[in-house]
Amino acid sequence: CGIVGYVGPRQSQGILLSGLARLEYRGYDSAGIAVIDDNGDLGMRKRAGKLSVLRSDLENAPLADGTTGIGHTRWATHGGPTDGNAHPHLADDDRLAVIHNGIIENFGELKAELVAVGYTFRSETDTEVAAVLLGHEYRANGGDLVAAFRTVAGRLEGAFTLLAMHRDHPGLVVGARRNSPLVIGLGEGENFLGSDVAAFVEHTRRALAIGQDQIVAITPDGVTVTDFFGEAVDVEPFEVTWDA
Ligand code: GLU
Repeated sequence: CGIVGYVGPRQSQGILLSGLARLEYRGYDSAGIAVIDDNGDLGMRKRAGKLSVLRSDLENAPLADGTTGIGHTRWATHGGPTDGNAHPHLADDDRLAVIHNGIIENFGELKAELVAVGYTFRSETDTEVAAVLLGHEYRANGGDLVAAFRTVAGRLEGAFTLLAMHRDHPGLVVGARRNSPLVIGLGEGENFLGSDVAAFVEHTRRALAIGQDQIVAITPDGVTVTDFFGEAVDVEPFEVTWDA
């Protein structure tokens, strides 16, 4: 339902939580964040309920600080609103974190394929299927997250904004979209992703809208947009003019 991503020099957790708070108006039933911490580990926390439930959980048992992160508020479509079905979903031995807006129509057949080669699942969501498939492709191609995204995006049917980050690539968040929105926020030495500009407008008003069937990779000082075949795409920056 709501998506935010951050890469840059600042601690990401506060940025993710305030971005999610600004997306609350869309409605949601669960919330979660993942952070690549300064030790190179991937920390993740997710809870059914309001953002305040996640916040107090994080206050009681903080995640280690880190400057690369993704956050999600969920509006359940596949699997009830439980902690386990909340996003992020982890794959590649908990080194890869994935969040998703939308519905993956062909998740059943993809799941059967993955189960047949030995993967197990911890949730009832369509999203975890995309996460596990992404981990599988990432392993198969020797660790290229963007290329894995291309392969996976080509196999998914339905509507998705997908964001992922991998412990082995601090400072990188990759996103893809089809029939569901994704916007980049351009900062100074930092960049943002959001399901809408509300996710980052308190930090920057320079934005780029990602087109249909495109993949974006953000780092603290760069943004690369390609189509699902790997061809570079030109995107025009725009200025967010409304008051947030
Ligand atoms: N279909 C996914 C789920 O049920 C994502 C829902 C959403 O857009 O929040 O977990």
